[in-house]
Amino acid sequence: MNVSRVRAATAAAAALAVGHALPALAAVPGGRSLFRTTRRLNGRVGGDSRVDGRPPGRVGLTFDDGPETGAVDSFLEALEELDVKATFFVVGEQVRRSPDAARRIVEAGHEIACHGYRHLNHLRLTPPATIRDLRDARDTITGETGAEIRHFRPPYGVFNAASWVTAARFGWERVLWARWGRDWEQAATPELIRHRVMSGVRDGDIILLHDAEAYSSSGSWRRTLGALEPIVSELRGRGFEPGPVGLVSPNGHPLGTTNGTVPSANGGRLAGGGGHEAKGTAS
Ligand SMILES: [Zn+2]
Repeated sequence: MNVSRVRAATAAAAALAVGHALPALAAVPGGRSLFRTTRRLNGRVGGDSRVDGRPPGRVGLTFDDGPETGAVDSFLEALEELDVKATFFVVGEQVRRSPDAARRIVEAGHEIACHGYRHLNHLRLTPPATIRDLRDARDTITGETGAEIRHFRPPYGVFNAASWVTAARFGWERVLWARWGRDWEQAATPELIRHRVMSGVRDGDIILLHDAEAYSSSGSWRRTLGALEPIVSELRGRGFEPGPVGLVSPNGHPLGTTNGTVPSANGGRLAGGGGHEAKGTAS
């Protein structure tokens, strides 16, 4: 085989590999303008920006990596007491393990969104494996909860070319974050998480927290839970109302969808709702 052909094949393979990895730049400051994702809520509320009579400032409150039975119920209880709705970026394999927990998120009126099927870094996945992962996540999350997915956040906030394109093909908005608590770290405390989220928070910011420990340090969700009330109180004290990324109806379904029902464990349909990173590294 002649040398130039080998060189050409190597160059082509290298170009493909670079192309596949490029959307990962969305997660770093230098790449944000190239690969635009939603980090802030700006422009989501039309007209006078009032929602339900609440003050104009809004921030997005999001939880990744769940649901885990027990942990998610503690968050749902705390959010109900605080009268806050949020967006839960759930993982398909976690939903498969705890489908009832996923349904409780929707029944409580929170928005459910997608965080992949297996919590793997997309830079380590081939294009076919990535597409399969997102398809499995979509089918599992929608199949178990009846909720329509409108938002996607990849594990660790890292896209590859396949997840970048497939998310758009599925009609999902690509969402990252503007503030985080680094709450997966073993050394994180409720006070440290609160401080990291609150220092520099601005109107419209999307906040990233975690309601599960499967991909974090042991006991991490309890530390996050301990920071939740202080964060919400301080946000309100600064005139920012926390809420989901997308606007949801009282029974947790995205506004504008017709599906007002939640599938029950026995396959029947109930009237909807009431009456959302490798150990020790990023999300
Ligand atoms: Zn995650």
